Amino acid sequence: MSPIASTLSRSIRLRVLGVGFTLWAACVASAAAAESPLCRLGHRQSPIDITATAKASAPALTFAYRAEPLRLANDGHTVRVRFAHGGELLVGQERYRLQQFHFHTPGGDRIAGEEFPMAAHLLHKGRSGQLLAVVVLFRLGAENPTLAALWTLSPRRADGDHAVAGAMADARALLPSSRAYYRYEGSLTASPCSEGVTWLVLKQPLELSAAQLAHWRTRFEDNIRPPQPLHGRTVLEIP
Ligand SMILES: [Zn+2]
Repeated sequence: MSPIASTLSRSIRLRVLGVGFTLWAACVASAAAAESPLCRLGHRQSPIDITATAKASAPALTFAYRAEPLRLANDGHTVRVRFAHGGELLVGQERYRLQQFHFHTPGGDRIAGEEFPMAAHLLHKGRSGQLLAVVVLFRLGAENPTLAALWTLSPRRADGDHAVAGAMADARALLPSSRAYYRYEGSLTASPCSEGVTWLVLKQPLELSAAQLAHWRTRFEDNIRPPQPLHGRTVLEIP
């Protein structure tokens, strides 16, 4: 049983919290807004294809996430789970609070040319407002019980955030066992494509089944742009 499924338990009333909207609004394209020129002209854009890397030994990742009552949305582009007290990611000594996670098809960031059918983006904010995104990639394989539990609970129609009575959200359920990762400096993946976002791509993919992917595709259009030019950026590889 997945941690999310196993933590389906007693519910507590949720606080209403607006954090994360700005982050989210810029992770998928909004049809309403004109695209920022930075999306075409920026030299530090996301996602990318990770090919050549520079090996680095640190900093290590420590995921200090916590479970909290589930609050999720179908926003018309994806399924999103927001956190008010979801814990932190430590990158060495730097602390980043978890804000929300959501899903993309296809995966966006590629590794050595491999395109993944899906990715989860876990978005964080540092104390100085620094944005940091963790990417968990998915390959086709076994059914993923965490995704199954989440998607079953997500509203069929596009709507705002919903508290789900009796359900808990725990982002640890979306982490692979390995903490190895790639790191690069990038941007929001949709307009305004603001740069200065740190991207950590976990090297070990998770799995979802072909049936799960097919089901997702009946609900959502593809929602991420193709890899962007590196323009001389170095991708660090932390084993
Ligand atoms: Zn995203």
